[in-house]
Amino acid sequence: MTIENKDKKYLWHPFTQMKDWMDNDIIVIERAGGNYLYDTRGRRYLDGISSLWCNIHGHQVRDIDLAITSQLSKVAHSTMLGLSNIPAVELAEELINIAPKGLSRVFYSDSGSTAVEIALKMAFQYWQQVSQGDTQIARRKTRFLTFVNAYHGDTIGAVSLGGIDLFHKTYGQLLFRTVKAPAPYCYRCPMGRKRKQCNLECLAEVERLLRRHHKELAGAVIEPLVQGAAGMITQPKGFIRRLRQLCNEYDILMIADEVATGFGRTGRMFACERENVKPDIMTVAKGITGGYLPLAATLTTEKIFKGFLGEFKDNKTFFHGHTYTGNPLACSAGLANLRIFRKGKTLPKIQPKIKILEKELQGLHKLENVGDIRQCGLMAGIELVSDRKTKTPFDYRKRIGHKVIIEARKRGVMLRPLGDVIVLMPPLSITFKELKLLLQVTYQSIEAVMNHLNS
Ligand SMILES: *Cc1c(COP(=O)(O)O)cnc(C)c1O
Repeated sequence: MTIENKDKKYLWHPFTQMKDWMDNDIIVIERAGGNYLYDTRGRRYLDGISSLWCNIHGHQVRDIDLAITSQLSKVAHSTMLGLSNIPAVELAEELINIAPKGLSRVFYSDSGSTAVEIALKMAFQYWQQVSQGDTQIARRKTRFLTFVNAYHGDTIGAVSLGGIDLFHKTYGQLLFRTVKAPAPYCYRCPMGRKRKQCNLECLAEVERLLRRHHKELAGAVIEPLVQGAAGMITQPKGFIRRLRQLCNEYDILMIADEVATGFGRTGRMFACERENVKPDIMTVAKGITGGYLPLAATLTTEKIFKGFLGEFKDNKTFFHGHTYTGNPLACSAGLANLRIFRKGKTLPKIQPKIKILEKELQGLHKLENVGDIRQCGLMAGIELVSDRKTKTPFDYRKRIGHKVIIEARKRGVMLRPLGDVIVLMPPLSITFKELKLLLQVTYQSIEAVMNHLNS
């Protein structure tokens, strides 16, 4: 049996209608190098979405490969429950050094979703414990403010925070309820405001909700600057900065989910830096190991950490941990990733790439069905619509986004859309030439699908 057929016989793929999968040709990746993936038939694809938003410096990066093999010759895994290991300690120190000021403690886990679960439990338990004398507060600060269209992962706590109906509605009865605030989606602003004239009306609603609910709120959870999975929906300037102020005013914890935006993606190491925001809790995952191994971290302040200190008998322990928490191989990859950022001057080097991406994206406006183009650093979303004037979406059953990425594959570029939003999220290591190729193929692929649709 071919590897393709074995896949179809044994596997169940994530976020995939398996009937569709089994009825179609599939691609099996055999190896990768630089910014390219190679399939079992020897075909080459530019990795246009950083292997689902996590690859940073490309594939088979010598320094990361070496870091992992060198760690492998010492120990692959040992537990963090009751023991420590060298790469986990060293990476924690590095993370604190680069994180927004005030974050001083690192709690590891294995995925963005688990990092978010940990943030939730941490915030919840914190309020229980700091207000122990005051059962009123402890009883009341138990809920979270979240945003429409948010995505924080697929475990039940993270799904509860989420606001993407397509993914989350099915599980409604399993979820806890949150206070849901409107998030800016300027292209489809219900108030019909132009982004330029908007003075962040969504925030007025957020403030209204906080005024009403702050006593029962433990924290507010946000994807800073960009709601990724919602379709690369970018926030107007000042949004998270004002949210930070509001969280201070109403005494609730600000939880920044930097799983997608962290590690240079927005042009700075973390998105929060762009607005000088210091969250109380920050989650990171995708890019932390350069896209090599599963690792995540939840960072928090000394103030919250101290809320968990006490005598053993007080039961203030944070009761959470996963088997592979702080895995030495993953942490050594994380260390190598950050070393490359430093020595390879990754952040200065991507600034001109961000400019080129911005410039090249403008060319896509020539295409009739491009409704909106959103960009933040090296993340971009191109929203395709059936009628640009009325901003009417395509019938989702037409699977326009999917058709576009199939065209892109034929042209040697690997993408994955979010509905009818074409996502471009190349590795930070992408070259100028590859960036141009990426945009050229995107243009041609959209054009090809539209021509076919109209013929
Ligand atoms: C991808 C993502 C997650 C979930 O991360 P996983 O590693 O897939 O569990 C959480 N939050 C945000 C903002 C993400 O983009």
